[in-house]
Amino acid sequence: MHRMLLVVLGSMLATMPVWSQGQPAQPPQIATTKVDGTDNVYIFRNGNHQAMFLVTSDGVIATDPVAYGRPQGGAAYVAEIRKITDRPIRYLIYSHHHFDHIAGGQAFKDAGARIIAHKRAKERLAVLQDPATVLPDEIMDRKKTITLGGTALELSFVGLNHSDSTLVMRLPKERIAFVVDLLPVGQMPGRGMIDFYPFEAETSIKQILAMDWERLIPGHPGPGGRLGTKRDVQDQLTFLQDASEAVKAPAREGRCWEPAENEVQLPKYANWPGYQANLQFVLRRYCALWGRGT
Ligand SMILES: [Zn+2]
Repeated sequence: MHRMLLVVLGSMLATMPVWSQGQPAQPPQIATTKVDGTDNVYIFRNGNHQAMFLVTSDGVIATDPVAYGRPQGGAAYVAEIRKITDRPIRYLIYSHHHFDHIAGGQAFKDAGARIIAHKRAKERLAVLQDPATVLPDEIMDRKKTITLGGTALELSFVGLNHSDSTLVMRLPKERIAFVVDLLPVGQMPGRGMIDFYPFEAETSIKQILAMDWERLIPGHPGPGGRLGTKRDVQDQLTFLQDASEAVKAPAREGRCWEPAENEVQLPKYANWPGYQANLQFVLRRYCALWGRGT
């Protein structure tokens, strides 16, 4: 066989999708979908991370590059936007300072976007100088509304919660909220509990419940990719309160970190995806609160 043909065949085999080799179907690494019932609201997903972007007559408002550990992830996101519109990317909003959501912003900056984040995000990023994570151009404190091409995006800081820099993003006309990590949809929170603010988060969640919205886009896809509802948010709040209460008594008996971390169960939530693997991280956080004072 011709040498060049062999090379081509070899590279085809190497890039063959898993499903063609008799394995179960895998979702593609990257997918962009328009949110049902909207004209211009999109979700960009890269692996298990996702972000919202808005296409308006005057340009694009993007959020979270989601490119941690993916050096080409930011460029891939910009390329997905370019499949839909050639209008300028005006803004890139950081949901909070955690790298798994905001690494990869350089491609947006190169495209001309202005990067906006909460002031605390810039303070943290400035100290850490992560080479993959671009500092914001503009910071905000409690509230800001971006209006572009007839689309309004409201950014709100509702206090300490999953991080100390989380912005709740809300589309008042579309009644959609984009909230990253603070409100997992239909599943357990996990390792992200490590820097969680337990009491303040409950206050934040109650504020989000009081806002006017109908559907919630999470920063990690919900079961089957579904969006969240206020019921999901209430369930998450109840779960956190139940977990806190379940740890309080053993913590005061001196059973933290172990054995409380290994013994406490919350069977009401046993059917939530991630229950077995992630409950320990939730219990550890509440052990820190009730058994350590932090
Ligand atoms: Zn996070």
